[in-house]
Amino acid sequence: MRQLIAGNWKMNGLLTEATTLAQHISAAAAGLACDLLVCPPATAVHIVAATLSGCGIGVGGQDCHAEEKGAHTGDISAAMLRDAGATWVILGHSERRADHGETDAMVLAKVDAAVTAGLTPIVCVGETEAQRLAGRQEEVVGAQLVGSLPKDFASSGASVGVVAYEPVWAIGTGRTPTEADVAAMHAFIRKTLLAHLGPAGQGVRILYGGSMKPANAKALLALPEVGGGLIGGASLKAPDFLAIAEAAVGG
Ligand code: PEP
Repeated sequence: MRQLIAGNWKMNGLLTEATTLAQHISAAAAGLACDLLVCPPATAVHIVAATLSGCGIGVGGQDCHAEEKGAHTGDISAAMLRDAGATWVILGHSERRADHGETDAMVLAKVDAAVTAGLTPIVCVGETEAQRLAGRQEEVVGAQLVGSLPKDFASSGASVGVVAYEPVWAIGTGRTPTEADVAAMHAFIRKTLLAHLGPAGQGVRILYGGSMKPANAKALLALPEVGGGLIGGASLKAPDFLAIAEAAVGG
């Protein structure tokens, strides 16, 4: 399976900055062995999708509402993202779980909305530092997976959903789990996906996210069951993002 390298730009990028970053990424992306995706802020989805049109790089949102439309001031529906040119959406990122109180049930409803609108969901899971120190990482991640993924996650929509394992304590901190810990968690996630989704769970790519950068990408992306990376800070610099993509492997 081709690895997926996805950039989460978070709340960064005015229109000119987002356009320039997209141009720099597309200029050097030809011939990469992996799939590439960028997830700009909602205001820039349309212009980034237009900038990347025809070059094979996907564009995604960073969240969507579970409802199709209605009285939800400030929210964005999955259909609006699709209309703006996105074909992917990140859901249940730990920053949304923390800042907006998103629960597994809310993420599950958003996944259904995304798939209905024709978006491929990337569902984020991951333990806090306190949970890992207490040895509860598998319990926490297992519950997030079962609570956030619909049974047809691997078989509905235009393409199969993706899971991103992002230990909360590794996001934006420069710290990463050991390679052994990443491999153990990805093996656990695969086992859980197979139990929850049946054999189709084998087709779900499991990304690693949390302080991935050019210096550690090769080692992390070579681990068993690592199907790519979800990149925050390093995705804002085209050379760093592309260096990570170059470390990825094709299928
Ligand atoms: C993220 O927030 O999804 C992320 C992986 O961030 P960073 O790469 O900056 O740790």
